[in-house]
Amino acid sequence: MSRALCPHCQFSPLTCLCDDLVTVNNKLKIIILQHPSETKVTKNTAKLLNLCLSQCNIIHGESQDDFQFLTDLPIATTALLYPNDDAIFLDSKDEKVNELKTQLTHLIVLDGTWKKAFKIMQLTPRLHDFVSVSFQSIPTNRYHIRKAPRVDSLSTLEAVAHSLMLVEQQDPNPLYTVLDALNHKQTQFMPAHVKARYNK
Ligand SMILES: [Zn+2]
Repeated sequence: MSRALCPHCQFSPLTCLCDDLVTVNNKLKIIILQHPSETKVTKNTAKLLNLCLSQCNIIHGESQDDFQFLTDLPIATTALLYPNDDAIFLDSKDEKVNELKTQLTHLIVLDGTWKKAFKIMQLTPRLHDFVSVSFQSIPTNRYHIRKAPRVDSLSTLEAVAHSLMLVEQQDPNPLYTVLDALNHKQTQFMPAHVKARYNK
């Protein structure tokens, strides 16, 4: 793995996204817990968030030992984006939800496959101390034409863009444009039949 990567965006020179990046001045601090197996995934949308958001940190690990910093986060104003049974829907019109949204300072997001995210939850009891939040209905955008979209079918970038829209009225479209650029650059050299499969 000695192929040179772009020193800024860390993608390969062929897929360098530096010209496509945007700056989003978010106030809600986004904290992404990334499972180690996710780091090398080419569709690493957490990496894009880290490059575009003014408030974003990625912490690699799998268990509580790796995420000691969680004990420093304010319990009352930190939420975990995870579809627990008791999760509060950020897109609810409820007055209490609106109040919660105005108070939130940190949002923890688990990056990885559904299975890996579940594993992080199991191995990190501290996460259960935070209120969990989710979506009643997932954003209908150009990436979701499928029939029964589920919250866990969202990429990390989409989930965060949607959360920022609901919590602090950030326009999600600049981030979606960067995702488009990534998809385009990663598929531009692929034969059509591979491309069709890749974008599903
Ligand atoms: Zn670059």
